[in-house]
Amino acid sequence: MGTTIKHSWAEPFKIKMVEPVFITTEEHRKKAIEEAGYNTFLLHSDDVYIDLLTDSGTSAMSDRQWAGMMLGDEAYAGSKNFYHLEEAIQNYYGYKHVVPTHQGRGAEHILSQILIKQGDIVPGNMYFTTTKLHQELAGGKFVDIIIDEAHDPDSLHPFKGNVNLEKLESIIKEHGADKIPYISIATTVNMAGGQPISMANMKALRELTNKYGIRIIHDMTRVAENAYMIQQKEEGYKGKSVAEITKELCMLTDGATMSAKKDAMVNIGGFLAINDPDVFDEARNMVVIYEGLHTYGGMAGRDMEALAIGIKESVQDDHIRARVGQVHYLGQKLMDAGVPIVKPVGTHGIFIDAKKFLPHIPQDQFPAQALAAALYIDSGVRAMERGIVSAGRNKETGDNNYPNLELVRLTIPRRVYTQAHMDVVAESVECIYSKRNTIRGLKMVYEPKYLRFFQARFEEI
Ligand SMILES: *Cc1c(COP(=O)(O)O)cnc(C)c1O
Repeated sequence: MGTTIKHSWAEPFKIKMVEPVFITTEEHRKKAIEEAGYNTFLLHSDDVYIDLLTDSGTSAMSDRQWAGMMLGDEAYAGSKNFYHLEEAIQNYYGYKHVVPTHQGRGAEHILSQILIKQGDIVPGNMYFTTTKLHQELAGGKFVDIIIDEAHDPDSLHPFKGNVNLEKLESIIKEHGADKIPYISIATTVNMAGGQPISMANMKALRELTNKYGIRIIHDMTRVAENAYMIQQKEEGYKGKSVAEITKELCMLTDGATMSAKKDAMVNIGGFLAINDPDVFDEARNMVVIYEGLHTYGGMAGRDMEALAIGIKESVQDDHIRARVGQVHYLGQKLMDAGVPIVKPVGTHGIFIDAKKFLPHIPQDQFPAQALAAALYIDSGVRAMERGIVSAGRNKETGDNNYPNLELVRLTIPRRVYTQAHMDVVAESVECIYSKRNTIRGLKMVYEPKYLRFFQARFEEI
Protein backbone atom coordinates (compact mmCIF):
# COMPACT_ATOMS: atom_id res chain seq x y z
CA MET A 1 0.00 0.00 0.00
CA GLY A 2 3.04 2.20 -0.21
CA THR A 3 3.01 3.70 3.29
CA THR A 4 4.18 2.66 6.69
CA ILE A 5 1.89 4.09 9.30
CA LYS A 6 3.47 4.41 12.73
CA HIS A 7 1.35 7.07 14.33
CA SER A 8 -2.16 8.43 13.83
CA TRP A 9 -3.35 9.43 10.36
CA ALA A 10 -2.80 12.91 9.03
CA GLU A 11 -3.84 14.58 5.81
CA PRO A 12 -1.52 13.60 2.92
CA PHE A 13 -1.28 17.22 1.76
CA LYS A 14 -0.43 20.70 2.96
CA ILE A 15 -2.61 23.75 2.43
CA LYS A 16 -1.59 26.14 -0.35
CA MET A 17 -4.60 28.47 -0.58
CA VAL A 18 -7.21 29.43 1.98
CA GLU A 19 -10.74 30.81 1.91
CA PRO A 20 -11.70 32.90 4.94
CA VAL A 21 -14.84 31.94 6.87
CA PHE A 22 -16.66 34.14 9.38
CA ILE A 23 -18.75 33.43 12.41
CA THR A 24 -21.94 35.42 12.87
CA THR A 25 -23.87 36.26 16.06
CA GLU A 26 -26.60 34.02 17.40
CA GLU A 27 -29.12 36.82 16.86
CA HIS A 28 -28.12 37.01 13.19
CA ARG A 29 -28.43 33.26 12.76
CA LYS A 30 -31.88 33.13 14.38
CA LYS A 31 -33.11 35.68 11.88
CA ALA A 32 -31.36 33.94 8.97
CA ILE A 33 -32.88 30.50 9.67
CA GLU A 34 -36.33 32.00 10.17
CA GLU A 35 -36.04 33.76 6.81
CA ALA A 36 -34.89 30.46 5.31
CA GLY A 37 -38.09 28.75 6.50
CA TYR A 38 -36.05 26.53 8.88
CA ASN A 39 -34.58 24.82 5.84
CA THR A 40 -30.78 24.82 5.79
CA PHE A 41 -30.89 24.49 1.97
CA LEU A 42 -32.37 28.00 1.84
CA LEU A 43 -29.64 29.70 3.90
CA HIS A 44 -27.13 31.96 2.18
CA SER A 45 -23.71 30.38 2.48
CA ASP A 46 -22.31 33.71 3.72
CA ASP A 47 -24.33 33.14 6.87
CA VAL A 48 -22.73 29.72 7.44
CA TYR A 49 -19.57 29.15 9.48
CA ILE A 50 -18.79 25.46 8.92
CA ASP A 51 -20.70 24.07 5.98
CA LEU A 52 -21.56 20.39 6.39
CA LEU A 53 -24.66 20.52 4.20
CA THR A 54 -23.17 18.13 1.69
CA ASP A 55 -19.97 16.61 0.38
CA SER A 56 -21.27 17.22 -3.14
CA GLY A 57 -19.16 19.54 -5.25
CA THR A 58 -17.71 21.05 -2.07
CA SER A 59 -14.36 19.25 -1.94
CA ALA A 60 -11.04 21.01 -2.42
CA MET A 61 -9.34 20.28 -5.72
CA SER A 62 -5.63 19.53 -5.74
CA ASP A 63 -2.96 21.68 -7.44
CA ARG A 64 -2.88 18.98 -10.14
CA GLN A 65 -6.59 19.34 -10.74
CA TRP A 66 -6.33 23.13 -10.92
CA ALA A 67 -3.45 22.76 -13.35
CA GLY A 68 -5.72 20.47 -15.38
CA MET A 69 -8.30 23.26 -15.52
CA MET A 70 -5.78 25.32 -17.46
CA LEU A 71 -5.49 22.55 -20.02
CA GLY A 72 -9.16 22.73 -20.96
CA ASP A 73 -9.79 21.99 -24.62
CA GLU A 74 -13.08 23.74 -25.17
CA ALA A 75 -13.69 22.36 -28.65
CA TYR A 76 -17.39 21.64 -29.09
CA ALA A 77 -16.67 18.16 -30.39
CA GLY A 78 -13.90 15.67 -29.66
CA SER A 79 -12.21 17.60 -26.82
CA LYS A 80 -9.00 15.88 -25.75
CA ASN A 81 -10.16 16.20 -22.15
CA PHE A 82 -13.06 13.86 -22.96
CA TYR A 83 -10.60 11.21 -24.11
CA HIS A 84 -8.56 11.64 -20.91
CA LEU A 85 -11.75 11.21 -18.92
CA GLU A 86 -12.79 8.16 -20.88
CA GLU A 87 -9.36 6.62 -20.35
CA ALA A 88 -9.46 7.31 -16.59
CA ILE A 89 -12.87 5.66 -16.28
CA GLN A 90 -11.75 2.64 -18.30
CA ASN A 91 -8.49 2.33 -16.30
CA TYR A 92 -9.73 2.89 -12.77
CA TYR A 93 -13.29 1.55 -12.99
CA GLY A 94 -13.11 -0.87 -15.91
CA TYR A 95 -16.28 0.22 -17.72
CA LYS A 96 -16.16 0.11 -21.50
CA HIS A 97 -18.25 3.07 -22.67
CA VAL A 98 -18.66 6.55 -21.20
CA VAL A 99 -21.22 9.32 -21.64
CA PRO A 100 -20.43 12.48 -19.67
CA THR A 101 -23.31 14.35 -17.98
CA HIS A 102 -23.56 17.60 -16.03
CA GLN A 103 -23.87 15.66 -12.76
CA GLY A 104 -25.17 12.38 -11.37
CA ARG A 105 -28.87 13.00 -11.90
CA GLY A 106 -28.26 13.73 -15.59
CA ALA A 107 -26.92 10.19 -15.94
CA GLU A 108 -29.78 8.78 -13.85
CA HIS A 109 -32.29 10.49 -16.11
CA ILE A 110 -30.86 9.09 -19.32
CA LEU A 111 -30.29 5.59 -18.01
CA SER A 112 -33.77 5.37 -16.41
CA GLN A 113 -35.46 6.53 -19.61
CA ILE A 114 -33.57 3.96 -21.68
CA LEU A 115 -33.87 0.91 -19.45
CA ILE A 116 -37.15 1.30 -17.53
CA LYS A 117 -40.61 0.65 -19.00
CA GLN A 118 -43.99 1.56 -17.51
CA GLY A 119 -44.85 -0.90 -14.73
CA ASP A 120 -41.29 -2.13 -14.19
CA ILE A 121 -39.86 -2.91 -10.76
CA VAL A 122 -36.43 -1.57 -9.76
CA PRO A 123 -35.06 -3.28 -6.64
CA GLY A 124 -32.23 -1.48 -4.88
CA ASN A 125 -30.17 -1.28 -1.68
CA MET A 126 -32.21 1.59 -0.22
CA TYR A 127 -33.48 4.50 -2.24
CA PHE A 128 -31.65 7.68 -3.06
CA THR A 129 -33.75 10.81 -3.65
CA THR A 130 -32.86 11.70 -7.26
CA THR A 131 -32.24 8.09 -8.33
CA LYS A 132 -35.67 6.93 -7.19
CA LEU A 133 -37.44 9.93 -8.67
CA HIS A 134 -35.91 9.30 -12.11
CA GLN A 135 -36.88 5.62 -11.86
CA GLU A 136 -40.45 6.67 -11.06
CA LEU A 137 -40.62 9.33 -13.78
CA ALA A 138 -39.61 6.62 -16.26
CA GLY A 139 -42.57 4.48 -15.10
CA GLY A 140 -40.78 2.20 -12.64
CA LYS A 141 -41.37 1.40 -9.00
CA PHE A 142 -38.46 1.26 -6.58
CA VAL A 143 -38.44 -1.66 -4.12
CA ASP A 144 -36.05 -1.71 -1.18
CA ILE A 145 -34.01 -4.92 -0.87
CA ILE A 146 -31.37 -3.78 1.61
CA ILE A 147 -30.83 -5.94 4.71
CA ASP A 148 -33.05 -5.04 7.69
CA GLU A 149 -30.03 -3.99 9.75
CA ALA A 150 -29.66 -0.94 7.49
CA HIS A 151 -32.88 0.50 8.90
CA ASP A 152 -31.68 0.07 12.48
CA PRO A 153 -29.37 2.90 13.58
CA ASP A 154 -27.97 0.75 16.41
CA SER A 155 -27.10 -2.37 14.45
CA LEU A 156 -23.33 -2.79 14.32
CA HIS A 157 -23.41 -4.85 11.12
CA PRO A 158 -20.19 -3.95 9.27
CA PHE A 159 -21.84 -3.96 5.81
CA LYS A 160 -25.23 -2.36 6.23
CA GLY A 161 -25.31 -1.66 2.50
CA ASN A 162 -25.74 -5.38 1.73
CA VAL A 163 -28.63 -6.75 -0.27
CA ASN A 164 -31.02 -9.25 1.25
CA LEU A 165 -30.71 -11.87 -1.49
CA GLU A 166 -33.74 -13.90 -0.38
CA LYS A 167 -35.89 -10.77 -0.52
CA LEU A 168 -34.58 -10.06 -4.01
CA GLU A 169 -35.17 -13.58 -5.25
CA SER A 170 -38.75 -13.57 -3.99
CA ILE A 171 -39.36 -10.26 -5.81
CA ILE A 172 -37.94 -11.76 -9.00
CA LYS A 173 -40.21 -14.79 -8.62
CA GLU A 174 -43.24 -12.64 -7.87
CA HIS A 175 -42.89 -10.22 -10.79
CA GLY A 176 -40.77 -12.17 -13.27
CA ALA A 177 -37.28 -11.22 -14.41
CA ASP A 178 -38.58 -9.43 -17.50
CA LYS A 179 -40.29 -6.85 -15.29
CA ILE A 180 -36.95 -6.00 -13.65
CA PRO A 181 -34.73 -3.93 -15.96
CA TYR A 182 -31.89 -3.83 -13.45
CA ILE A 183 -30.91 -3.95 -9.81
CA SER A 184 -29.89 -0.51 -8.52
CA ILE A 185 -26.84 -0.87 -6.28
CA ALA A 186 -25.18 2.01 -4.45
CA THR A 187 -21.65 2.02 -3.05
CA THR A 188 -21.87 3.35 -0.30
CA VAL A 189 -25.52 3.71 0.74
CA ASN A 190 -26.02 7.39 1.43
CA MET A 191 -29.45 7.23 3.04
CA ALA A 192 -28.41 4.45 5.42
CA GLY A 193 -25.62 6.61 6.80
CA GLY A 194 -22.89 6.07 4.23
CA GLN A 195 -22.81 2.32 4.78
CA PRO A 196 -20.78 -0.02 2.55
CA ILE A 197 -21.74 -3.19 0.71
CA SER A 198 -19.34 -6.12 1.05
CA MET A 199 -17.54 -7.71 -1.87
CA ALA A 200 -18.95 -11.09 -0.87
CA ASN A 201 -22.50 -9.73 -1.10
CA MET A 202 -21.78 -8.07 -4.43
CA LYS A 203 -20.39 -11.36 -5.80
CA ALA A 204 -23.42 -13.29 -4.58
CA LEU A 205 -25.69 -10.68 -6.13
CA ARG A 206 -23.84 -11.04 -9.43
CA GLU A 207 -24.37 -14.79 -9.37
CA LEU A 208 -28.06 -14.45 -8.61
CA THR A 209 -28.66 -11.80 -11.29
CA ASN A 210 -26.70 -13.83 -13.84
CA LYS A 211 -29.04 -16.74 -13.16
CA TYR A 212 -32.02 -14.57 -14.12
CA GLY A 213 -30.31 -12.45 -16.77
CA ILE A 214 -30.80 -9.18 -14.88
CA ARG A 215 -28.39 -6.25 -15.07
CA ILE A 216 -26.75 -4.53 -12.11
CA ILE A 217 -26.52 -0.76 -12.42
CA HIS A 218 -24.07 0.76 -10.00
CA ASP A 219 -24.57 4.11 -8.30
CA MET A 220 -20.81 4.54 -7.91
CA THR A 221 -20.88 7.98 -6.34
CA ARG A 222 -18.74 6.90 -3.36
CA VAL A 223 -17.22 3.66 -4.62
CA ALA A 224 -13.68 4.43 -3.39
CA GLU A 225 -14.99 5.01 0.13
CA ASN A 226 -16.83 1.70 -0.08
CA ALA A 227 -13.63 0.02 -1.30
CA TYR A 228 -11.75 1.42 1.68
CA MET A 229 -14.29 -0.08 4.10
CA ILE A 230 -13.88 -3.45 2.36
CA GLN A 231 -10.12 -3.14 2.75
CA GLN A 232 -10.51 -2.37 6.45
CA LYS A 233 -13.24 -4.82 7.39
CA GLU A 234 -13.62 -7.67 4.93
CA GLU A 235 -11.75 -10.93 5.18
CA GLY A 236 -9.11 -11.26 2.46
CA TYR A 237 -8.84 -7.61 1.41
CA LYS A 238 -6.22 -6.24 3.82
CA GLY A 239 -3.44 -6.66 1.28
CA LYS A 240 -5.29 -5.12 -1.66
CA SER A 241 -5.18 -1.46 -2.60
CA VAL A 242 -8.27 0.72 -2.66
CA ALA A 243 -7.71 1.12 -6.40
CA GLU A 244 -7.79 -2.66 -6.93
CA ILE A 245 -10.89 -3.12 -4.78
CA THR A 246 -12.65 -0.22 -6.51
CA LYS A 247 -12.13 -1.80 -9.91
CA GLU A 248 -13.16 -5.22 -8.67
CA LEU A 249 -16.47 -3.76 -7.39
CA CYS A 250 -17.18 -1.97 -10.67
CA MET A 251 -16.41 -5.02 -12.76
CA LEU A 252 -19.11 -7.00 -10.98
CA THR A 253 -21.69 -4.62 -12.46
CA ASP A 254 -22.94 -3.84 -15.97
CA GLY A 255 -22.91 -0.09 -15.87
CA ALA A 256 -22.95 2.90 -13.58
CA THR A 257 -24.14 6.39 -12.88
CA MET A 258 -21.68 8.68 -11.19
CA SER A 259 -21.95 11.96 -9.38
CA ALA A 260 -18.34 13.03 -9.77
CA LYS A 261 -18.98 15.81 -7.25
CA LYS A 262 -18.38 13.33 -4.41
CA ASP A 263 -15.56 10.74 -4.61
CA ALA A 264 -13.84 12.34 -7.58
CA MET A 265 -13.53 15.80 -6.00
CA VAL A 266 -14.73 18.10 -8.75
CA ASN A 267 -17.16 20.96 -8.27
CA ILE A 268 -19.42 19.79 -11.07
CA GLY A 269 -19.66 16.73 -13.29
CA GLY A 270 -20.83 13.18 -13.69
CA PHE A 271 -21.14 10.40 -16.18
CA LEU A 272 -22.92 7.30 -17.28
CA ALA A 273 -20.76 4.25 -17.91
CA ILE A 274 -22.04 1.10 -19.58
CA ASN A 275 -20.65 -2.09 -21.02
CA ASP A 276 -23.54 -2.94 -23.37
CA PRO A 277 -22.82 -1.29 -26.76
CA ASP A 278 -26.53 -0.99 -27.64
CA VAL A 279 -27.40 0.85 -24.44
CA PHE A 280 -24.35 3.04 -25.01
CA ASP A 281 -25.58 3.86 -28.48
CA GLU A 282 -28.97 4.93 -27.16
CA ALA A 283 -27.44 6.91 -24.29
CA ARG A 284 -25.09 8.70 -26.64
CA ASN A 285 -28.08 9.62 -28.75
CA MET A 286 -30.17 10.80 -25.83
CA VAL A 287 -27.46 12.87 -24.14
CA VAL A 288 -27.50 15.34 -27.02
CA ILE A 289 -31.15 16.16 -26.25
CA TYR A 290 -30.78 16.77 -22.52
CA GLU A 291 -27.14 17.46 -21.66
CA GLY A 292 -24.93 18.26 -24.64
CA LEU A 293 -22.86 16.54 -27.28
CA HIS A 294 -21.64 13.04 -26.32
CA THR A 295 -18.04 14.28 -25.86
CA TYR A 296 -18.94 16.88 -23.22
CA GLY A 297 -22.46 16.14 -21.93
CA GLY A 298 -22.89 19.37 -20.01
CA MET A 299 -19.31 19.72 -18.79
CA ALA A 300 -16.64 22.16 -19.90
CA GLY A 301 -13.43 20.61 -21.21
CA ARG A 302 -11.53 21.92 -18.20
CA ASP A 303 -13.98 20.21 -15.85
CA MET A 304 -13.51 16.89 -17.63
CA GLU A 305 -9.74 17.24 -17.21
CA ALA A 306 -10.06 17.99 -13.48
CA LEU A 307 -12.35 14.98 -13.19
CA ALA A 308 -9.94 12.65 -14.96
CA ILE A 309 -7.26 13.68 -12.44
CA GLY A 310 -9.70 13.52 -9.50
CA ILE A 311 -10.62 9.93 -10.32
CA LYS A 312 -6.98 8.90 -9.97
CA GLU A 313 -6.55 10.83 -6.70
CA SER A 314 -9.76 9.41 -5.24
CA VAL A 315 -8.47 5.83 -5.18
CA GLN A 316 -5.12 6.54 -3.48
CA ASP A 317 -4.88 4.73 -0.13
CA ASP A 318 -3.37 7.71 1.71
CA HIS A 319 -6.12 10.01 0.54
CA ILE A 320 -9.02 7.81 1.40
CA ARG A 321 -7.61 6.83 4.77
CA ALA A 322 -7.39 10.48 5.82
CA ARG A 323 -10.79 11.28 4.34
CA VAL A 324 -12.59 8.53 6.20
CA GLY A 325 -10.29 9.02 9.20
CA GLN A 326 -11.57 12.56 9.65
CA VAL A 327 -15.19 11.41 9.51
CA HIS A 328 -14.46 8.75 12.10
CA TYR A 329 -12.67 11.27 14.33
CA LEU A 330 -15.84 13.35 14.55
CA GLY A 331 -17.98 10.23 15.01
CA GLN A 332 -15.84 9.00 17.90
CA LYS A 333 -16.10 12.38 19.67
CA LEU A 334 -19.87 12.34 19.44
CA MET A 335 -20.12 8.73 20.58
CA ASP A 336 -17.85 9.49 23.54
CA ALA A 337 -20.22 12.32 24.49
CA GLY A 338 -23.21 9.94 24.37
CA VAL A 339 -24.85 11.63 21.36
CA PRO A 340 -27.05 9.12 19.48
CA ILE A 341 -25.63 8.61 15.98
CA VAL A 342 -25.91 5.90 13.34
CA LYS A 343 -23.43 3.13 14.01
CA PRO A 344 -21.08 2.01 12.76
CA VAL A 345 -19.87 5.36 11.46
CA GLY A 346 -20.03 5.48 7.66
CA THR A 347 -17.64 7.14 5.26
CA HIS A 348 -18.89 10.57 4.23
CA GLY A 349 -20.57 11.97 7.27
CA ILE A 350 -22.05 11.53 10.71
CA PHE A 351 -25.76 10.85 10.89
CA ILE A 352 -27.38 11.99 14.13
CA ASP A 353 -30.39 9.92 15.21
CA ALA A 354 -32.97 12.69 15.61
CA LYS A 355 -35.67 10.35 16.95
CA LYS A 356 -33.44 9.51 19.92
CA PHE A 357 -32.03 13.02 20.22
CA LEU A 358 -35.51 14.62 20.35
CA PRO A 359 -37.89 11.93 21.61
CA HIS A 360 -40.43 14.61 22.57
CA ILE A 361 -40.97 15.63 18.91
CA PRO A 362 -43.22 13.27 16.89
CA GLN A 363 -42.01 12.38 13.38
CA ASP A 364 -44.74 14.44 11.68
CA GLN A 365 -43.27 17.51 13.37
CA PHE A 366 -39.98 16.95 11.54
CA PRO A 367 -37.50 16.32 14.37
CA ALA A 368 -34.45 16.10 12.07
CA GLN A 369 -35.38 19.34 10.32
CA ALA A 370 -35.78 21.02 13.74
CA LEU A 371 -32.47 19.64 14.96
CA ALA A 372 -30.57 20.90 11.91
CA ALA A 373 -32.04 24.36 12.50
CA ALA A 374 -31.08 24.28 16.20
CA LEU A 375 -27.51 23.30 15.37
CA TYR A 376 -27.25 26.18 12.91
CA ILE A 377 -28.55 28.68 15.48
CA ASP A 378 -26.05 27.43 18.08
CA SER A 379 -22.86 27.63 16.03
CA GLY A 380 -23.44 28.42 12.36
CA VAL A 381 -22.77 24.78 11.46
CA ARG A 382 -24.97 23.81 8.52
CA ALA A 383 -26.23 20.22 8.36
CA MET A 384 -29.15 18.67 6.47
CA GLU A 385 -32.25 16.64 7.15
CA ARG A 386 -32.40 13.02 6.02
CA GLY A 387 -35.72 11.81 7.36
CA ILE A 388 -39.41 12.30 6.73
CA VAL A 389 -38.95 15.45 4.64
CA SER A 390 -36.40 13.77 2.34
CA ALA A 391 -38.52 10.62 2.10
CA GLY A 392 -41.35 12.56 0.41
CA ARG A 393 -44.78 11.15 -0.26
CA ASN A 394 -46.04 7.80 -1.47
CA LYS A 395 -46.49 8.01 -5.23
CA GLU A 396 -49.83 6.21 -5.19
CA THR A 397 -51.55 7.35 -1.98
CA GLY A 398 -49.98 10.80 -1.60
CA ASP A 399 -49.37 10.17 2.12
CA ASN A 400 -46.11 11.05 3.82
CA ASN A 401 -43.58 8.24 3.82
CA TYR A 402 -42.46 7.54 7.40
CA PRO A 403 -38.87 6.25 7.20
CA ASN A 404 -37.42 4.40 10.17
CA LEU A 405 -34.36 6.57 9.98
CA GLU A 406 -34.93 10.19 10.98
CA LEU A 407 -31.46 11.64 10.66
CA VAL A 408 -29.44 14.84 10.57
CA ARG A 409 -26.44 14.50 8.31
CA LEU A 410 -23.17 16.23 9.10
CA THR A 411 -21.45 15.73 5.76
CA ILE A 412 -17.73 16.27 5.56
CA PRO A 413 -16.35 17.78 2.35
CA ARG A 414 -13.07 16.22 1.21
CA ARG A 415 -9.80 18.05 2.02
CA VAL A 416 -11.61 21.20 3.20
CA TYR A 417 -11.83 21.35 7.00
CA THR A 418 -9.31 20.65 9.75
CA GLN A 419 -9.52 18.66 12.94
CA ALA A 420 -10.13 21.91 14.84
CA HIS A 421 -13.28 22.48 12.77
CA MET A 422 -14.39 18.97 13.71
CA ASP A 423 -13.84 19.85 17.38
CA VAL A 424 -16.10 22.91 17.06
CA VAL A 425 -18.80 20.82 15.40
CA ALA A 426 -18.63 18.22 18.17
CA GLU A 427 -18.80 20.90 20.88
CA SER A 428 -21.86 22.47 19.28
CA VAL A 429 -23.71 19.16 18.91
CA GLU A 430 -22.91 18.34 22.54
CA CYS A 431 -24.14 21.78 23.59
CA ILE A 432 -27.54 21.42 21.96
CA TYR A 433 -27.76 17.83 23.24
CA SER A 434 -27.50 19.19 26.79
CA LYS A 435 -30.46 21.52 26.17
CA ARG A 436 -32.43 19.29 23.77
CA ASN A 437 -35.67 19.65 25.73
CA THR A 438 -35.93 23.28 24.61
CA ILE A 439 -36.05 22.38 20.88
CA ARG A 440 -39.54 22.57 19.38
CA GLY A 441 -41.14 20.77 16.43
CA LEU A 442 -41.97 22.36 13.07
CA LYS A 443 -44.91 22.54 10.72
CA MET A 444 -44.51 22.61 6.95
CA VAL A 445 -45.95 25.75 5.40
CA TYR A 446 -44.76 25.30 1.81
CA GLU A 447 -44.22 22.02 -0.02
CA PRO A 448 -42.80 21.71 -3.55
CA LYS A 449 -43.98 18.85 -5.73
CA TYR A 450 -40.63 17.14 -6.36
CA LEU A 451 -37.70 16.55 -3.96
CA ARG A 452 -39.40 18.70 -1.37
CA PHE A 453 -36.46 18.75 1.06
CA PHE A 454 -34.61 21.21 -1.17
CA GLN A 455 -37.17 24.01 -1.02
CA ALA A 456 -39.82 23.24 1.63
CA ARG A 457 -40.48 25.93 4.24
CA PHE A 458 -41.32 25.48 7.91
CA GLU A 459 -42.39 27.42 10.98
CA GLU A 460 -41.85 26.62 14.64
CA ILE A 461 -44.82 25.14 16.49
C1 LIG B 1 -25.37 12.95 -5.00
C2 LIG B 1 -25.88 11.62 -5.31
C3 LIG B 1 -26.57 11.35 -6.50
C4 LIG B 1 -26.98 12.43 -7.48
O1 LIG B 1 -25.92 13.09 -8.02
P1 LIG B 1 -25.92 14.67 -8.37
O2 LIG B 1 -24.54 14.91 -8.87
O3 LIG B 1 -26.23 15.40 -7.09
O4 LIG B 1 -26.96 14.91 -9.41
C5 LIG B 1 -26.95 10.04 -6.73
N1 LIG B 1 -26.69 9.06 -5.86
C6 LIG B 1 -26.05 9.28 -4.71
C7 LIG B 1 -25.78 8.15 -3.78
C8 LIG B 1 -25.63 10.57 -4.38
O5 LIG B 1 -25.01 10.78 -3.21
